[in-house]
Parts: sequence; C-alpha cells; structure tokens
Amino acid sequence: MINKIFGYFSHDIGVDLGTANTLIYVKGKGIVINEPSVVAINNKTKQILAIGDAAKRMVGRTPANIIASRPLVDGVVSDFEVTEQMLKFFIEKVHKEAFTLFPRPRVVIGIPSGVTEVEKRAVEEATVNAGARQAFLIEEPMAAAIGSRLPVQEAGGSMIVDIGGGTTEVAVISLGGIVTCRSIRIAGDELNRDIIQFAKDEYNLLLGERTAEDIKINIGSAYPSKENLEAVMRGRDLVTGLPKSIVVNSNQIRSALAKSIATIVDTIKTTLEETPPELVADIMDKGIVLAGGGALLRGLDALISQLTKMPVIISDDPLTTVVRGNGLVLEDIESLKNILVSTQYDKSPR
Ligand code: ADP
Ligand code: MG
Repeated sequence: MINKIFGYFSHDIGVDLGTANTLIYVKGKGIVINEPSVVAINNKTKQILAIGDAAKRMVGRTPANIIASRPLVDGVVSDFEVTEQMLKFFIEKVHKEAFTLFPRPRVVIGIPSGVTEVEKRAVEEATVNAGARQAFLIEEPMAAAIGSRLPVQEAGGSMIVDIGGGTTEVAVISLGGIVTCRSIRIAGDELNRDIIQFAKDEYNLLLGERTAEDIKINIGSAYPSKENLEAVMRGRDLVTGLPKSIVVNSNQIRSALAKSIATIVDTIKTTLEETPPELVADIMDKGIVLAGGGALLRGLDALISQLTKMPVIISDDPLTTVVRGNGLVLEDIESLKNILVSTQYDKSPR
C-alpha cells in the first residue's frame, strides 16, 4: 500500500548496466545518463577517485597506484563492491538532480540471460543497496527486443543479437519468453584485442586499448566494400621502445577481425539451428535484429545476412536499445510484468 502511494510520486528509472557503458532512463524524461562503466580506484587505499566519463579519461594514463577498472567486464558482476558504488553514483546523480523530494525510485535493470541465481541476487542487491526502493530484473535480450519494438508478447519468433563490449548475446523470443539463447565472451573488447594483436604481430607496434577501439570504429569492417579507408596507428615500437606511427587500411583490419566475427556469426547460426522451425520462419519474415555497439561495425549486417540467408536489421541507435527497452517496460510495468525475471523481494503472483 505504501509502495502504491509512493509510486505516484516517485520517478522510476531503467538502468542498462553494460560492460562498456551504463545508461539510465527516467520515466517521462528519457535517457539522462550515458557514461562508460569505468571506475578509477587508488590501488593502495582502495578509494574510488572517479566514475564514468571522468574515469574513462584516465584509462591508460594513470600512475602506477591508480587503476581504471571496468567492474563488469565479462557481462556479469565480477567486482561486486565496485559495481555497487558505480551504480550508486549514477542513481544518486539522477535522483539528486531532479527530485530530492521524491522517494527512492523503482528500478528496472537488465541482467544477461542465463545468469545464475547467485548472480541474479548480486545484481538485485547491488541495485537495492545503490538506492532503489524496488528492483525489477529483466533479461537483457528481452529489453533489447522491446527497445527494438519487436512484438515479444506475440506467438511469433523474434531474434535479437546484442553485441556489447564483453559479451555477445543471441536470443530467440516468443510469447514473452526466451526460447533459445547463447552468450559468448567475444564482442567489442575482443575486436579491440584483435587489433592490438595484429599491430604487434605485423609491425612490432604496441597499441593502447583506446587507440585500438578508435581504429575499429573509424575503419573497421566485417564485409568488403569499395571504400578502402585508412587510419594511422600510433603506438610504441616494441624493438626500439620509441613512438611509432603506421598507416593501415580497412582490408587489413577486416582480416584481423575476421576470426572473432566468424565466431559471432557461428553462434547466430547455431542458435538458429536450435530454434523450432516455425519460429525460424517468423525470423525469416521479420529479420534478425542487431543491437549493442558492435552492431555498428561496418558491413556486419551484410555479412550475417549473407551467411545465414536471412534479412538483418540494425536496431535504431543500437547503443541505447536496451535502456530504451527498459524505459518502455517502466512506462507499462503492469502489462509487462510477465516478462520480468522473478526476484526474491517480489512475492506478487504472476
Ligand atoms: P555494453 O552493453 O557491454 O556496455 P555497448 O552496447 O555499449 O556494450 O557497446 C560497446 C561496444 O560497442 C564497445 O566495444 C565499442 O567499441 C563498440 N562500438 C561502439 N561504436 C562502434 C562502432 N561505430 N563500430 C564498431 N564498434 C562500436
Ligand atoms: Mg549491453
């Protein structure tokens, strides 16, 4: 009852706690936070020095006693306390800015599909400890599908492929539930590592992570195209120890990424093979939908389409798909309750 009365006044929020980026959606307002999931910590005192944008600026530039950590790097809460601090920082930022007088918010937060009960509990507890009045968990592929406006409640198959920083999740959804899904730890970060490896093997050049990511975003591709782009890789010569610049083109980068990309495509194919034929027919009609920052890699849609013989669609603004999905759930939480993951504090009948 108290919750019901509070509900009228509080601003509920949707959180996408991604391995690379954290986004927050406020009901009735839209996306208010979009910052990297990075925390800078003093390694000696364990004190948190900066979170989000401020912490990311420190990556690769910190003195020995400061580490810039990404607490969620494998898609689940790997560093519980730091994650909680980060979440708290972002939730308080939202809460303070707009509505100090309102009660604490209810929070819809995504979890990777197929996480264990323990991991589920960890996310839920972190959310409540970070200042939520109540936490609703949603599987991220479900949020991505809702954010892509796929008809998740209908008796028809939809396939969503969410390529984030740490993980790629492939899921088929029908009747408000996940029918088949697969998750692999090959996604945007791995592509950056591929570029770092390529520079090392080909040119004895040591690249920083951010440089590798810039190269990927600026000239990376998955499918050949007429425009052969070029970029300068700046790093350190592993032989002389001195700074060195090398010009590379998109064909070279494409072949550096090819193996990881092939693994992602194979995962999509395997998931399709495990999907009941009726649902495959639906996916054939609607197309495979790509979300997450990795969906923006040039030509990835064309490659997946060629190798699966299915139409492929990139979700609008794929970096915000999950949080917008969480936002849509917030706006209509009563009728979408059945798609949420049941949690320990939630004793309501479904
Ligand atoms: P997460 O949900 O794990 O936080 P995101 O969906 O925010 O991940 O995606 C982050 C990943 O997307 C990063 O690895 C980033 O390098 C990658 N990315 C962002 N923009 C592009 C782009 N234009 N081309 C290729 N990859 C991109
Ligand atoms: Mg994500």
